[in-house]
Amino acid sequence: LRVTGAMAQQAAKPVEGAVRIGANECWTGPFPVAAEAAFKLVQEGNRYEPNDEHAKLFAAVAAVEGIPADRITAWPGSSDPLSRVAVAYASPTRGIVTGNPAYEAIWRTGDWLGAKVTKVPLTKDYAHDVKAMLAADPNAGVYYICSPNNPTGTMTPLADIQWLADNKPKDAILVVDEAYIHWFDGPNAAKMAASRDDVLILRTFSKLFGMAGMRLGLTFASPAIMEKMMRYDGGQVTAMLPMTAVACGTVSVAQADLIKARRAEMVANREMAIAHLRKKGIKVIPGSQANMFMVDWGKPAKAMQAAILAEKVQIGRNWPIWPNVSRVSVGSADEMKAFCDAIDKVWKA
Ligand code: PLP
Repeated sequence: LRVTGAMAQQAAKPVEGAVRIGANECWTGPFPVAAEAAFKLVQEGNRYEPNDEHAKLFAAVAAVEGIPADRITAWPGSSDPLSRVAVAYASPTRGIVTGNPAYEAIWRTGDWLGAKVTKVPLTKDYAHDVKAMLAADPNAGVYYICSPNNPTGTMTPLADIQWLADNKPKDAILVVDEAYIHWFDGPNAAKMAASRDDVLILRTFSKLFGMAGMRLGLTFASPAIMEKMMRYDGGQVTAMLPMTAVACGTVSVAQADLIKARRAEMVANREMAIAHLRKKGIKVIPGSQANMFMVDWGKPAKAMQAAILAEKVQIGRNWPIWPNVSRVSVGSADEMKAFCDAIDKVWKA
């Protein structure tokens, strides 16, 4: 079955009156102080670049991540640069290697390119199996690691990511998708892009920052990589961005205390729901460090998803490799309580 774009968006479509914990969105909007900055920019919407907004965003991100501002590029979300990096480095003769299950957008780009897409099962700890990934296609053009991984929420150790960067073909690129990194309280891969010419880091404001509909993402990568990815639009990619999103992002990244508090609150909601499931004897894939977790029902996930939706709770989908396992996104405490109540109603062991 070919996964179309429309199908991939299904989980994000609202169902009237249902709790929405299916698409890994944030249950709440941007931090109020960041939303205020966006509103100010609405009033200056007549200008393409009212107050040097891009430079402010890059300076704010550089200060937080410790990487040079000239290696930071802003995008309308991280989906577009993910497709572009595949187009720049994969081809019918240079494949793409990913984990499985993993975020599957790059599978579709690979199919369109006619590039071989090799999906390598995660390790028993649900990390990317970097040695198996290299062995599976030693001459690939793109190695893609999602950490924390969508849909399992699990991390791949930084040492393994570094190993893959050092051992892949020199002219291949390592893409590290850190869409969910703000829920992980530990080291990230960002600094690898500060010195190397063959690593690209993806970030998004769609998740913890609550800006999915506003559209803002980042890449950390060398100017040479950017040139390859923008060769058909003359380096003008930043003209795609609404200044409201750029200003909102600039203020968001600097809110260290609010980020920590939102993370802690959502981790507590996640662990509350997981404990509830386990108490009923329902299996949960361990180790999530993100705003999602996977539930192994031991029976078809599609039927469970439908039964839970009948109780007005919209959970996520399953992946072909694990037909009995659903992804559930973490919402507010009330939303996770509604999920637990729905489980109490529909679960029969
Ligand atoms: N990467 C991962 C791992 C995701 O889960 C998503 C969205 O769900 C994206 C990238 C793309 O999101 P966006 O384009 O909103 O940044």
